[in-house]
Amino acid sequence: MSLTAALSFARHGIPVLPVHTPDRGGSCSCDRGARCDRPGKHPRLRHGVREASTDPEQITLWWSLWPRANIGLRTGVRMDVADVDSPAGWHGLRHLLGDDVPAGPQVRTGRGGRHLWFRPTGFGNRVGLLPGLDWRGAGGYVLAPPSRHASGVAYSWIRRPTAGLPPGPAPLLALVEGPVPAPAPAPHPVAHPGRYAEAALDAEADRVARAPVGTRNDTLNRAAFALGRFVGAGLLDAAAVRHELTAAARHAGLGHAEIRGTLRSGLTAGQRQPFDNLGHHAA
Ligand SMILES: [Zn+2]
Repeated sequence: MSLTAALSFARHGIPVLPVHTPDRGGSCSCDRGARCDRPGKHPRLRHGVREASTDPEQITLWWSLWPRANIGLRTGVRMDVADVDSPAGWHGLRHLLGDDVPAGPQVRTGRGGRHLWFRPTGFGNRVGLLPGLDWRGAGGYVLAPPSRHASGVAYSWIRRPTAGLPPGPAPLLALVEGPVPAPAPAPHPVAHPGRYAEAALDAEADRVARAPVGTRNDTLNRAAFALGRFVGAGLLDAAAVRHELTAAARHAGLGHAEIRGTLRSGLTAGQRQPFDNLGHHAA
């Protein structure tokens, strides 16, 4: 019963959201049906993961509306998730960790993929840490057992959650944390840090505006993170960054809600790691 499972996650403090369901033929329960490009993987709620809840009454109401809803779990609250979506991704992850994969919770997903749960890092989603390996962090979500994959297979536990999650192993966290894409941190104090920051803002906004479909959200997240580091160092105004990146992301075709959520998590994570080697000269 997916309601029982949803309530159990919520009791453990994990915000839950109802997600669309694939039918036996792999068509999505959304209006796009067989033409949906993410069958059974996108939220049923208008504001998506931002409406995820731990309130049992809210969850019970949702599942009375959609008894077969897949279960989405908001990441970045109780757990972050390494999202392995192929055998190649699993091979790459094991290679990265020297076959020393922590014995934390693991989910078998639809297509030879796995989810590995770790303590939250504070970072947002990261796409393509390695081929076939993404990271779901602040502002993201994953599907949980017994959700159904479009292939017809149900998500299932390889190892169930127990009290206390393992921290992400260092080599994996290093990938999640960076390297921060351009603009690269300056190796020497910069003579005009304000001007440098302005140039970075222009470059990142341009990159976001031109990001192709499929990379837009990740590009925006990276830009927000990079510029958040300038905000944290007092070199850029957070409101100006939000304004510029919002305009660029709208140009790229992203929706308001997605932009807001991604900006918030990216900027927050960036501000936690302010640049400290740009010197303190006046611009
Ligand atoms: Zn759909």
